[in-house]
Amino acid sequence: MAAKTSPVCFDEELITRYGGRGPRYTSYPTAMQFSESFAVDDYCQHAHDSNASGKPLSLYVHIPFCNTLCYYCACNKIVTRNTARIQTYLHSLDEEIRQQSELFDRGRVVRQLHFGGGTPTYLGEKQLCGLMDSLHDAFSLEQGDDREFSIEVDPRSVDQESISLLSQLGFNRLSLGIQDFDPRVQIAVNRIQSVDDVQSLLGRAREKGFRSVSFDLIYGLPHQTVESFDRTLSSVIEMRPDRLAIYNYAHLPQRFKGQRMIKDSQLPSPQVKLEILHHTIDRLSDAGYEYVGMDHFALPDDDLVIARNNGTLQRNFQGYSTHGNCDLVGLGASAIGSIGNAYSQNSPSTIEYEAMLGAGRLPVKRGLVVNHDDRLRAQIIQALMCYDELNMAAFSERNDIDFCHYFADELRRLIPLERHGLLELDADRIVITSKGRLLLRSIAMVFDRYLAKEQDGSRFSKAI
Ligand code: SF4
Repeated sequence: MAAKTSPVCFDEELITRYGGRGPRYTSYPTAMQFSESFAVDDYCQHAHDSNASGKPLSLYVHIPFCNTLCYYCACNKIVTRNTARIQTYLHSLDEEIRQQSELFDRGRVVRQLHFGGGTPTYLGEKQLCGLMDSLHDAFSLEQGDDREFSIEVDPRSVDQESISLLSQLGFNRLSLGIQDFDPRVQIAVNRIQSVDDVQSLLGRAREKGFRSVSFDLIYGLPHQTVESFDRTLSSVIEMRPDRLAIYNYAHLPQRFKGQRMIKDSQLPSPQVKLEILHHTIDRLSDAGYEYVGMDHFALPDDDLVIARNNGTLQRNFQGYSTHGNCDLVGLGASAIGSIGNAYSQNSPSTIEYEAMLGAGRLPVKRGLVVNHDDRLRAQIIQALMCYDELNMAAFSERNDIDFCHYFADELRRLIPLERHGLLELDADRIVITSKGRLLLRSIAMVFDRYLAKEQDGSRFSKAI
């Protein structure tokens, strides 16, 4: 599968009609379907069995701690300055790394590594070095250019020396949480960082040869207007990060306590949010960024755009990725793994996570073994999310099924979306149009067998 990156067309009427809540499909089935009937023994069995494939590994390491609370945040994090608490967690993480590594053949190289949080860069130099030493002792980390080792960076927690250290430790990709440069917005969300500081970190990252730097922005934050966000975009475009992720702020104060610090009256109206998004897409397109899919933009020479053009783009728990053919080992509280046909998730509670490891057990809390139907649907959703296209004839041949018969109900449910211009349907292919590209998840939802059972839509964020 390969697709040339096509433009994205902003259609306000369609966005209003189809931009409701829905899963982000970083996996199918989504984590909502994981169950506690999947236990540690199931995980160990799948890990052992996966060695026969010899596939490379991808490691996700979760560091849940942050120095201060950003009011908009919906992540699994712990705001603390208690260094003993962090040290206890790192001790358990070391133990998990050791126990997990015993399940996998040492010959399986780690091609992809991602440190997420929380704030991984809240760890001090000694702690970060110690963690990387543990990973090196336990796994065979790829040394060559083919590795994709990334870390989420809070610009407030690093300086130029820290960026050099990350490079020495083997990281070659950075993801910087920017959100918005406007001082009034920054005060309202309790996250203050200057353009100059970010600029100087980016300069050091380029000097050190980081292969890709990504910025995260959020629209829909308090006090944002089209004009204010335009100023943030001007600063960002001038710095020219390789990738940009533009997230929609979902205000759910009943679920996320910190969001109660944000007053409803400070938030931009739904209409202003749409105008900000529209303006952002126009400005990024004019600046030469290509829309990869969902919330992601990248420069034409970035690996994500190249992967999309040559058919190797994947969607996984980190969003879009160029390394699809790996088994994913989740390390740390709440971390998700994907090994062979099984998904697993560690306990999200650091207390329980530490207690389970203290008792000599892996902290696997729940998971799921995917069935044949799940695998078919996952392939479809993957193709639509990565390439805006599904070749039904090729799919039928590859999977030895009659697509039109097997998915007759779904094809019927696509007809109104076709009528509204989100996609084109012919005898062989489903092709998402430039108007449908911003509404990928609404189209993918048609193929989600579990969604009808999901009563509480508020658990998902809005597409737009
Ligand atoms: S946005 Fe990042 S730094 Fe801020 S509280 Fe959430 S995880 Fe921590």
